[in-house]
Amino acid sequence: MYARIIVDVPAKQTNRAYDYRVPDCLKEWVEIGSRVGVPFGSRIVQGFVVGIEERSEVADSRLKDIAHVLDWTPPLTRELVELGRWMARKYLCHEITALQAMIPAALKARYEKWIRIAEDIPHGVEWKLEEETRILDFVRERGGVAVETLLKQFPGAGAVIRRLLGSGELVEERKMRNRLSAKKVLTVFPPGPDTDLRLLCDSLPGNARRQREVLQFLADHPEPVRLTELMNRLSVSAGTVKGLAERGWIGLREIEVFRDPYAGRTFSRTTPLPLTGEQRQVYEVISESLAAGRHEVFLLHGVTGSGKTEVYLQVIQRCLSEDREAIVLVPEISLTPQMVERFKGRFGDQVAVLHSRLSDGERYDEWRKIMLRKVRVVIGARSAIFAPFTRLGLIIIDEEHESSYKQDESPKYHARDVAIRRGRMNNAVVVLGSATPSLESYSQTGPGGTADSCGGGAGFRLLSMQSRVHGRPLPEVHIVDMREELKEGNRSMFSRSLHKALEDRLHKQEQAVLLLNRRGYATFVMCRTCGYVSSCPHCDISLTYHQSSHMMRCHYCGYAEREVAECPDCGSPHIRHFGTGTQRVEEELGKLFPGIRVIRMDVDTTTEKGSHEKWLTQFRNRQADVLLGTQMVAKGLDFPHVTLVGVIAADTVLNLPDFRSAEKTFQLLTQVAGRAGRHELPGEVFVQTYTPAHYSIQCASRHDYRSFVQTELETRRQRGYPPFQKLVLLTLSHEELPFLVKSAEKLAGALREAAGSAVRRPAFAAGGSIPGDDPGALEILGPVASPISRIKDRYRFQCMIKYRGDTEVSSIVQSAVSLLEDQLRKEKLQISIDVDPQVLL
Ligand code: ADP
Ligand code: ZN
Ligand code: ZN
Repeated sequence: MYARIIVDVPAKQTNRAYDYRVPDCLKEWVEIGSRVGVPFGSRIVQGFVVGIEERSEVADSRLKDIAHVLDWTPPLTRELVELGRWMARKYLCHEITALQAMIPAALKARYEKWIRIAEDIPHGVEWKLEEETRILDFVRERGGVAVETLLKQFPGAGAVIRRLLGSGELVEERKMRNRLSAKKVLTVFPPGPDTDLRLLCDSLPGNARRQREVLQFLADHPEPVRLTELMNRLSVSAGTVKGLAERGWIGLREIEVFRDPYAGRTFSRTTPLPLTGEQRQVYEVISESLAAGRHEVFLLHGVTGSGKTEVYLQVIQRCLSEDREAIVLVPEISLTPQMVERFKGRFGDQVAVLHSRLSDGERYDEWRKIMLRKVRVVIGARSAIFAPFTRLGLIIIDEEHESSYKQDESPKYHARDVAIRRGRMNNAVVVLGSATPSLESYSQTGPGGTADSCGGGAGFRLLSMQSRVHGRPLPEVHIVDMREELKEGNRSMFSRSLHKALEDRLHKQEQAVLLLNRRGYATFVMCRTCGYVSSCPHCDISLTYHQSSHMMRCHYCGYAEREVAECPDCGSPHIRHFGTGTQRVEEELGKLFPGIRVIRMDVDTTTEKGSHEKWLTQFRNRQADVLLGTQMVAKGLDFPHVTLVGVIAADTVLNLPDFRSAEKTFQLLTQVAGRAGRHELPGEVFVQTYTPAHYSIQCASRHDYRSFVQTELETRRQRGYPPFQKLVLLTLSHEELPFLVKSAEKLAGALREAAGSAVRRPAFAAGGSIPGDDPGALEILGPVASPISRIKDRYRFQCMIKYRGDTEVSSIVQSAVSLLEDQLRKEKLQISIDVDPQVLL
């Protein structure tokens, strides 16, 4: 028997699987999806079995044996192994990277030096030092130990150990270890029901009062109990209990337990709500596909507060009743306790939760619950899409337009594409929900929306819910022209109307949400005399001022320096910070409304574990009047007393040099406006802007998604951007600029050559004609310096491929990149390939 194995050797620039022999003793354990240790060169490395064969192309004499199997149950299913292959092709990444992304970090192997006793002890070593004997016994007893453990046990014995290694009595090898394993606790099992306890007690010696107590307790509470708990409750020693176990009267065994992040928390159970008319229609269409076991992708466009989550809950229920499993993805940022509560409240222990704030151990245990079939629903952020279910029936992606579904490090996958792929492989239903669907998804619903990037197939079916539950109105949105404010002499960051509205809510004791997108937006420090801007010495980006610490920080590399009182360049004292950060808004609020209670939520105030939750609970309990924050206050929150939403500066996103800036602006405004007036009290929204006429702002203020997409699609079509054309972004980085430029030119040349005659000259000039209708059209843009041209002392240059969806680009990219192989290997040149990039900055 032979296994085809993808090995974890990052330097290998191939996706090729290597053949290994499966030794007889491992035959029962090696399956597709198994994680194994295999010899590679002089080391043992981790690998995944992706195939089992009767024979191998490679001569038997050149094949090596699999050294060991790492898990009792393979951590990957067959389907996930196949998915890995697809990801490698689609995202032009290494297959091993794709497979590693599917398992919890705790399963990523760590390599360590390991010492064991030689199998055949060499002759000629007659006598030993006492210490040598003790070391050998220690190692023998344990069957092998890590070097660190041995040195800790015998400090200062380095020389002796080296001698034992030299004489061949000890052998050193590199061993792979999991960083974590299942948590086990010693558990006491009471005697069986037929045992006569009195008889046992009588046979104990008279002074064994403690042991009698233990037996009596177990007779009264005949359930398994943790050893430590028993010891605490009865104040007995471990020895007392073990004594009983040795007599065979009670059981004492290690039991696996799950580290449960929600332990001790009770979730009050909820029952399905009677659905509204719109909800019912949607529910029925989706249920029909579920019942038929038919793969289909639904795009659920439901305005904020239309009750999408209740629909999710009920279709999941339906899916479970078909005896199939469900995955729910939500953006990390909205995976709030409130959201978890809604799912745990409906499905109780059948739900596993995966998010990045879990420790490695907790995450591993949640994942194991899936493996062991203890749960049937998973709710989680992006990577939960890899939940190893085997009867997957439903995948829901809430807020499907969120760019955080795209991973920004390799594998640069988009969870929505992976979901659709898994849906197809499992005949499962996929529901994409949003109040502001992405243009990529929306364009799949129209006629001609059939070119889906996940391997063909029919387009998406559009479902829509246009009114809020109970006919609550969407909030009224006022656009405030900040240019007018300035003309009228108002230099404050608050317009007169927002100021007045805030005053009014404070008076009525209602609450407000204020949004300032982007952390510490543009709080750069500039000298007003000479124009000097302080910027990071390692990255080409200005430093951000953090008032609380009086530090200037780089948001890319973390570099920090003290605030300066005078200009380092010209010595002028007129140096000040510009722009508005959340901290400045907070300060201003305090000045304008003395006594106002503000909760500020941004990256700086939410780094601590649980802080997110703490702020939101305080706000919910009305311990604050205003919740001020970045994007993280825009989404998913549902507070009954919020009747006012203010957007301080709507233009901050609009002015980003990204073709999606209008879409992002529309989404953000719609989302944040959706926080107001969700319950009895009606809501009102103020959007402050310098470009009030822009269609993204106008459409958002009218809650008019359709007009927005129509205008935006037309713009994208004219400029040849997604969803009409696709993009691949290739970024090269190196410490030396001239070398980088040369390599980037070489890459661009190679791309153009590989693309052959399909390539046209890039149309850089404004109004230049970019092909829009020519199928198979392809252009190579660049090389140009990346928008952030240096990060962590590495310069960055990029090339972009713009192409029609039906063009085969992977071979073009591969052949071009292979020309740079030498530089990549030897010259520390790095390349990043991003297929369907979400963020162009
Ligand atoms: P969305 O996810 O579309 O923003 P939610 O699912 O959060 O909307 O629903 C908004 C509010 O309406 C929530 O408080 C929810 O409990 C309530 N709700 C949803 N569906 C119903 C229903 N059928 N009957 C009564 N209340 C509902
Ligand atoms: Zn200066
Ligand atoms: Zn930096």
